[in-house]
Amino acid sequence: PRLTVAIVGRPNVGKSTLFNRLVGRRLAIVHDEPGVTRDRREGEGRIGDLRFRVIDTAGLEDAPADSLAGRMRTQTEAAIEDADVALFLVDARSGLMPDDHYFGEVLRRAGKPVILIANKSEGSASDAGYYEAFSLGLGEPVALSAEHGLGLADLADALERQA
Ligand code: GDP
Ligand code: MG
Repeated sequence: PRLTVAIVGRPNVGKSTLFNRLVGRRLAIVHDEPGVTRDRREGEGRIGDLRFRVIDTAGLEDAPADSLAGRMRTQTEAAIEDADVALFLVDARSGLMPDDHYFGEVLRRAGKPVILIANKSEGSASDAGYYEAFSLGLGEPVALSAEHGLGLADLADALERQA
């Protein structure tokens, strides 16, 4: 696959759920190097006929609290360095947190294309969070539910504009 996509965002926004949704049962290469910045999973993502390489940034949940921000930043920067486009997930049900703004800044500085995704958008509890996501200044969010498989066609459209 030509297009490489990195899934980034703070813990618990649904990155791995989206990764699993995109990759399905196809084998993922697991890079698990403790203490290194590149512990992550890769696989071949598919939405319909669209194929791409997808990288899940993982393992941050185990980082000591005092280094979490630094590790998130380092791992995110490594993933987007290898990627053509970043899928930046936020949790539309919880609304934005300070870490989301932090990630938004890291992504803005990286200068790579960003597709902003308002995940957990399967019900009206996500409406406020969806509109709040505009305040990140990264364009119109794609409303998605990784868990329920909703919004994938809109994500495919956004990816095709990057291909
Ligand atoms: P990560 O830390 O960003 O990789 O997030 P995970 O994929 O591990 O998901 C964190 C939690 O959010 C889990 O309990 C998921 O089941 C839940 N989750 C993921 N996607 C959705 C979604 O679209 N809707 C809802 N309601 N929950 C979701
Ligand atoms: Mg994860």
